Amino acid sequence: MKIILATANKGKIKEFKSYLQDAQVYSFGEVLEPFEIVEDGSSFKENALIKAKAVYEKLSDKEAIVLADDSGISVDVLGGEPGIYSARYAGIEANAEQNLEKLIKTLKEKNLTRTPAHYTAAIALVCDAGAFCVHGWMYGHVIDEKRGDHGFGYDPIFEPLGYNKTLGELDAEVKEQFSHRARALQHAKKILKTLKR
Ligand code: IMP
Repeated sequence: MKIILATANKGKIKEFKSYLQDAQVYSFGEVLEPFEIVEDGSSFKENALIKAKAVYEKLSDKEAIVLADDSGISVDVLGGEPGIYSARYAGIEANAEQNLEKLIKTLKEKNLTRTPAHYTAAIALVCDAGAFCVHGWMYGHVIDEKRGDHGFGYDPIFEPLGYNKTLGELDAEVKEQFSHRARALQHAKKILKTLKR
Protein backbone atom coordinates (compact mmCIF):
# COMPACT_ATOMS: atom_id res chain seq x y z
CA MET A 1 0.00 0.00 0.00
CA LYS A 2 1.43 3.35 -1.09
CA ILE A 3 0.53 6.33 1.13
CA ILE A 4 1.40 9.91 0.28
CA LEU A 5 1.36 12.31 3.22
CA ALA A 6 -0.06 15.73 2.32
CA THR A 7 2.17 17.55 4.79
CA ALA A 8 5.56 19.20 4.89
CA ASN A 9 5.65 19.25 8.71
CA LYS A 10 8.72 17.19 9.69
CA GLY A 11 7.28 16.33 13.12
CA LYS A 12 4.10 14.89 11.59
CA ILE A 13 6.03 13.02 8.87
CA LYS A 14 8.25 11.39 11.50
CA GLU A 15 5.22 10.29 13.56
CA PHE A 16 3.26 8.95 10.55
CA LYS A 17 6.26 6.99 9.25
CA SER A 18 6.60 5.41 12.67
CA TYR A 19 2.84 4.60 12.95
CA LEU A 20 2.51 3.17 9.41
CA GLN A 21 5.49 0.88 9.22
CA ASP A 22 3.70 -1.77 7.13
CA ALA A 23 3.00 0.64 4.24
CA GLN A 24 5.23 2.53 1.81
CA VAL A 25 4.94 6.07 3.14
CA TYR A 26 6.18 9.18 1.30
CA SER A 27 5.76 12.86 2.04
CA PHE A 28 4.32 14.71 -0.94
CA GLY A 29 7.59 16.63 -1.24
CA GLU A 30 9.24 13.31 -2.19
CA VAL A 31 6.90 12.66 -5.14
CA LEU A 32 5.67 16.08 -6.34
CA GLU A 33 7.15 19.49 -7.14
CA PRO A 34 6.35 21.90 -4.29
CA PHE A 35 3.05 23.80 -4.64
CA GLU A 36 0.96 25.94 -2.35
CA ILE A 37 -2.21 24.66 -0.68
CA VAL A 38 -4.52 27.35 0.69
CA GLU A 39 -6.00 26.04 3.95
CA ASP A 40 -9.05 28.26 4.12
CA GLY A 41 -11.46 25.81 5.76
CA SER A 42 -13.26 26.66 8.98
CA SER A 43 -12.58 23.36 10.76
CA PHE A 44 -9.82 20.79 11.14
CA LYS A 45 -11.93 18.44 8.98
CA GLU A 46 -12.34 20.94 6.13
CA ASN A 47 -8.63 21.77 6.09
CA ALA A 48 -7.57 18.10 6.18
CA LEU A 49 -9.84 17.34 3.21
CA ILE A 50 -8.59 20.42 1.30
CA LYS A 51 -4.98 19.24 1.70
CA ALA A 52 -5.63 15.59 0.82
CA LYS A 53 -7.74 16.45 -2.26
CA ALA A 54 -5.19 19.01 -3.53
CA VAL A 55 -2.38 16.44 -3.39
CA TYR A 56 -4.47 13.59 -4.86
CA GLU A 57 -5.42 15.78 -7.86
CA LYS A 58 -1.73 16.33 -8.68
CA LEU A 59 -0.71 12.65 -8.41
CA SER A 60 -0.22 10.62 -11.56
CA ASP A 61 -0.44 7.36 -9.57
CA LYS A 62 -4.19 7.21 -8.86
CA GLU A 63 -3.71 3.88 -7.00
CA ALA A 64 -1.98 5.75 -4.20
CA ILE A 65 -3.80 6.88 -1.06
CA VAL A 66 -3.29 10.43 0.15
CA LEU A 67 -3.40 11.04 3.87
CA ALA A 68 -3.60 14.55 5.32
CA ASP A 69 -3.55 15.62 8.94
CA ASP A 70 -4.89 18.93 10.13
CA SER A 71 -4.30 19.40 13.80
CA GLY A 72 -3.82 21.90 16.56
CA ILE A 73 -4.07 22.74 20.21
CA SER A 74 -7.10 24.36 21.89
CA VAL A 75 -6.93 26.04 25.29
CA ASP A 76 -10.35 26.02 27.01
CA VAL A 77 -9.98 29.32 28.87
CA LEU A 78 -8.93 31.05 25.62
CA GLY A 79 -12.17 29.98 23.94
CA GLY A 80 -10.40 27.17 22.06
CA GLU A 81 -7.52 29.29 20.73
CA PRO A 82 -5.25 28.77 18.84
CA GLY A 83 -7.29 25.81 17.43
CA ILE A 84 -7.21 25.66 13.64
CA TYR A 85 -4.77 28.62 13.69
CA SER A 86 -2.12 26.70 15.70
CA ALA A 87 0.41 26.75 12.85
CA ARG A 88 0.02 30.53 12.35
CA TYR A 89 -0.85 31.72 15.88
CA ALA A 90 1.96 34.32 15.93
CA GLY A 91 1.33 35.35 12.30
CA ILE A 92 1.10 33.87 8.84
CA GLU A 93 4.91 33.53 8.49
CA ALA A 94 5.49 32.46 12.12
CA ASN A 95 7.53 29.35 12.93
CA ALA A 96 6.74 26.73 15.59
CA GLU A 97 8.97 28.42 18.19
CA GLN A 98 7.28 31.81 17.71
CA ASN A 99 3.82 30.23 17.99
CA LEU A 100 4.84 28.43 21.18
CA GLU A 101 6.29 31.64 22.66
CA LYS A 102 3.09 33.52 21.84
CA LEU A 103 0.97 30.94 23.68
CA ILE A 104 3.29 31.06 26.71
CA LYS A 105 3.09 34.89 26.70
CA THR A 106 -0.73 34.76 26.50
CA LEU A 107 -0.87 32.32 29.44
CA LYS A 108 1.50 34.47 31.52
CA GLU A 109 -0.50 37.64 30.79
CA LYS A 110 -3.55 35.88 32.23
CA ASN A 111 -1.59 34.42 35.18
CA LEU A 112 -2.41 30.90 34.01
CA THR A 113 0.39 28.61 35.17
CA ARG A 114 -1.49 25.40 34.26
CA THR A 115 -4.84 25.23 32.50
CA PRO A 116 -6.93 22.62 30.57
CA ALA A 117 -6.23 22.17 26.87
CA HIS A 118 -6.50 19.50 24.20
CA TYR A 119 -5.03 18.55 20.87
CA THR A 120 -7.27 17.63 17.92
CA ALA A 121 -6.22 15.76 14.78
CA ALA A 122 -8.43 15.38 11.71
CA ILE A 123 -7.05 12.81 9.28
CA ALA A 124 -8.41 12.85 5.74
CA LEU A 125 -7.93 9.96 3.32
CA VAL A 126 -8.44 10.51 -0.40
CA CYS A 127 -8.12 7.78 -3.02
CA ASP A 128 -9.96 6.37 -6.04
CA ALA A 129 -12.65 5.04 -3.64
CA GLY A 130 -13.54 8.51 -2.32
CA ALA A 131 -12.77 10.93 0.52
CA PHE A 132 -12.97 10.09 4.23
CA CYS A 133 -12.18 11.94 7.46
CA VAL A 134 -11.69 10.75 11.04
CA HIS A 135 -10.70 12.50 14.27
CA GLY A 136 -8.68 11.89 17.44
CA TRP A 137 -8.19 13.96 20.60
CA MET A 138 -5.68 14.12 23.47
CA TYR A 139 -6.69 15.96 26.66
CA GLY A 140 -4.43 17.52 29.28
CA HIS A 141 -3.07 20.87 30.44
CA VAL A 142 -0.79 23.55 29.09
CA ILE A 143 1.78 25.15 31.38
CA ASP A 144 3.42 28.57 31.07
CA GLU A 145 7.01 27.33 30.65
CA LYS A 146 8.81 24.99 28.26
CA ARG A 147 9.99 21.65 29.60
CA GLY A 148 11.89 19.10 27.47
CA ASP A 149 12.67 18.99 23.78
CA HIS A 150 10.99 15.83 22.51
CA GLY A 151 8.13 16.04 20.02
CA PHE A 152 7.44 19.26 18.14
CA GLY A 153 5.24 22.37 18.14
CA TYR A 154 3.47 22.90 21.46
CA ASP A 155 4.68 19.60 23.02
CA PRO A 156 7.13 21.24 25.50
CA ILE A 157 4.19 22.93 27.31
CA PHE A 158 1.57 20.16 27.07
CA GLU A 159 1.06 17.68 29.93
CA PRO A 160 -1.25 14.81 28.91
CA LEU A 161 -3.92 13.81 31.48
CA GLY A 162 -2.44 11.55 34.13
CA TYR A 163 1.13 12.85 33.67
CA ASN A 164 2.98 15.64 35.42
CA LYS A 165 5.55 15.73 32.61
CA THR A 166 5.19 17.47 29.27
CA LEU A 167 5.33 15.68 25.92
CA GLY A 168 8.68 17.41 25.59
CA GLU A 169 9.90 15.36 28.56
CA LEU A 170 8.09 12.09 27.79
CA ASP A 171 9.50 9.55 25.30
CA ALA A 172 8.07 9.48 21.78
CA GLU A 173 6.73 5.96 22.51
CA VAL A 174 4.50 7.38 25.27
CA LYS A 175 2.98 9.99 22.95
CA GLU A 176 2.53 7.30 20.30
CA GLN A 177 0.25 5.31 22.64
CA PHE A 178 -2.48 7.93 23.02
CA SER A 179 -1.82 11.04 20.96
CA HIS A 180 -4.59 12.74 18.99
CA ARG A 181 -2.78 11.65 15.82
CA ALA A 182 -2.38 8.03 16.96
CA ARG A 183 -6.07 7.86 17.93
CA ALA A 184 -7.27 9.33 14.63
CA LEU A 185 -4.97 6.95 12.83
CA GLN A 186 -6.52 3.95 14.58
CA HIS A 187 -9.80 4.91 12.86
CA ALA A 188 -8.03 5.66 9.58
CA LYS A 189 -6.43 2.19 9.66
CA LYS A 190 -9.90 0.62 9.73
CA ILE A 191 -10.73 2.46 6.50
CA LEU A 192 -7.35 1.56 4.97
CA LYS A 193 -8.06 -2.13 5.66
CA THR A 194 -11.19 -1.96 3.52
CA LEU A 195 -9.27 -0.54 0.55
CA LYS A 196 -7.95 -3.42 -1.55
CA ARG A 197 -4.44 -2.57 -2.84
P1 IMP B 1 -1.23 22.10 10.39
O1 IMP B 1 0.03 21.53 9.78
O2 IMP B 1 -1.80 23.22 9.61
O3 IMP B 1 -2.21 21.02 10.70
O4 IMP B 1 -0.78 22.74 11.75
C1 IMP B 1 -0.74 22.00 12.91
C2 IMP B 1 -0.05 22.81 14.00
O5 IMP B 1 -0.62 22.39 15.24
C3 IMP B 1 1.43 22.47 14.07
O6 IMP B 1 2.19 23.42 13.38
C4 IMP B 1 1.69 22.51 15.56
O7 IMP B 1 1.94 23.83 15.93
C5 IMP B 1 0.38 22.10 16.18
N1 IMP B 1 0.36 20.65 16.45
C6 IMP B 1 -0.42 19.70 15.86
N2 IMP B 1 -0.15 18.49 16.35
C7 IMP B 1 0.82 18.66 17.26
C8 IMP B 1 1.53 17.75 18.09
O8 IMP B 1 1.35 16.52 18.08
N3 IMP B 1 2.44 18.31 18.90
C9 IMP B 1 2.68 19.65 18.94
N4 IMP B 1 2.08 20.54 18.17
C10 IMP B 1 1.13 20.05 17.33
